[in-house]
Amino acid sequence: MSDPVVQGLIEALRALPGVGQKSAQRMAFHLLQHNRAGAIKLAQALLQSVDEVGHCERCHTFSRDRICSICLDPTRDARVLCVVETPADLAALERTGSYRGMYFVLAGALSPLDGVGVRDIGFAPLLARAMDGVVDEVVLATNFTAEGEITAHVLSEQLKSRGLKVTRLARGVPVGSELEYVDLGTIAHALMDRR
Ligand code: ZN
Repeated sequence: MSDPVVQGLIEALRALPGVGQKSAQRMAFHLLQHNRAGAIKLAQALLQSVDEVGHCERCHTFSRDRICSICLDPTRDARVLCVVETPADLAALERTGSYRGMYFVLAGALSPLDGVGVRDIGFAPLLARAMDGVVDEVVLATNFTAEGEITAHVLSEQLKSRGLKVTRLARGVPVGSELEYVDLGTIAHALMDRR
């Protein structure tokens, strides 16, 4: 297949995580052959999302508004701030239905080997958020991977040195796992049991 437009589509699909040349080609051919309506819908959804979706100024999760609906919800407990690595982790905690506090979404986890330090993951905005005078407990819900554990350790030291109460999701979440893929009951339990 040498048509440059089709090649361009295949190249563009490779922007998706985990999609190599073969899968990208399969997707492109499938859309052109069997699902042109779906392709148009996909293109429009991508354009609209990139155009309209930004980050909440308070918690940094995806939001179309300046402040997201969770941060604006007056029924939530503003004294508890849960720190996660990604919007997907926030979504996983929300699905448990057992957490009623606020969130802060980091820009990923610390990765000293790759040169990703505290500044890169948004420590300054986290500190400003946690020191708002209302928050009295920060729950570290970074992943139970090596990088997530380092992140929790470093953030814990930094936040405690500023007089904040810091807890970590309890064990029970399997070592090495990413919250996004842990079952809801286990996450809910780890939240209740934090220490
Ligand atoms: Zn928010």
